Amino acid sequence: MPKTKRVGTAGRFGPRYGKKIRKAIAEIEKTQKQRHICPKCNMPYVKRVSSGIWQCQKCGTKFAGLAYSASHGD
Ligand SMILES: [Zn+2]
Repeated sequence: MPKTKRVGTAGRFGPRYGKKIRKAIAEIEKTQKQRHICPKCNMPYVKRVSSGIWQCQKCGTKFAGLAYSASHGD
């Protein structure tokens, strides 16, 4: 019988991933879903358009960031 216990949004990765890594993935996904502050207009409309590329939906500024976070230091 397969275990279907889910850990947040990372549950789809299945039981072959360890508990620790699934928790880490859940944290990353949580960060990805958060709104990010645009460094230009300071509005929380920054969305990740592709790996490492972020775009502000407000002023249209595109900028490179980390793959998993647009944080530029709080
Ligand atoms: Zn902006």
